[in-house]
Amino acid sequence: MGIRALGAFSGGLDGMLAALLLESQGIDVELATFTSPFFSSESGCRGAEQLDLPWREIDYTGEIMGLLHKPLSGFGKNLNPCIDCHAGMFRILGGIAEEEGYDFIFSGEVAGQRPMSQNKNSLNRVARLSGYQDMLLRPLSAKLLRITGPERMGLIDRDLLLSFSGRSRKPQMRLAEEYGIRYINPGGGCLLTDPNYCDRLKILMSIPGLFTSGNARLIRHGRMFRLSDDTVGLVGRSEGDNAGLESLVNDEITFVLEDRPGPTGVLIGDPEMLPELVTLVKRYAGDGP
Ligand code: SF4
Repeated sequence: MGIRALGAFSGGLDGMLAALLLESQGIDVELATFTSPFFSSESGCRGAEQLDLPWREIDYTGEIMGLLHKPLSGFGKNLNPCIDCHAGMFRILGGIAEEEGYDFIFSGEVAGQRPMSQNKNSLNRVARLSGYQDMLLRPLSAKLLRITGPERMGLIDRDLLLSFSGRSRKPQMRLAEEYGIRYINPGGGCLLTDPNYCDRLKILMSIPGLFTSGNARLIRHGRMFRLSDDTVGLVGRSEGDNAGLESLVNDEITFVLEDRPGPTGVLIGDPEMLPELVTLVKRYAGDGP
């Protein structure tokens, strides 16, 4: 069996290039994308299909929900605990690598690309916190980082790895052209970097018992109202919102008007607050001020 590597892959250009760079050295590359209420695996799935590489999805919900309580390395600009989040992902990949016989793990991270979470110190901290520092290769910036196990053992030729750094995307664009990759920015991204979503999440986090993965999914849709100290209501703004809410409700009370079209309302918290939700649904159906 050849040398095998498992990569953390969001579907972005850097991850694609890292995978192709390793493939060009004859490594058997496989990709993994994490999913949670805050980010999806869709673009990872599409990117892996485009590269025709084996791919798996890993549910990261439990880990990221836990991290949001008190991340060891703190938050970024919003509720994004990027350093601990990356470290946790590599910890999981490292565990899989050990169990399933991969020789190393990798990512498309580039040193200095993001001021806080991807400067050189952060990359080193992430690697250290993951517990798999020696097994974690960042092929696009490897020459700027300390030598890792797979390079030292000759599993991969360090001379053929790269020294990309900084925020310019030009080197990546050139390499993409060399590899003949057509790349469209997948968009989406992580909701923990979205200030509007994070304002909602902070409300959920402040109400005992409401910070659940199901509720974190629900609040992606509709207008959100604080109905009382312990209750929030969601009211769809569009058909898409209504469908999104309806597809996600579990035990929550849902209210829709039966006699005419209108928004879907969902109550999270105290059932006694239903009349307030009904009033909101009627108002946004055009009944009131
Ligand atoms: S942006 Fe989101 S998914 Fe990415 S490392 Fe930060 S918290 Fe994790």
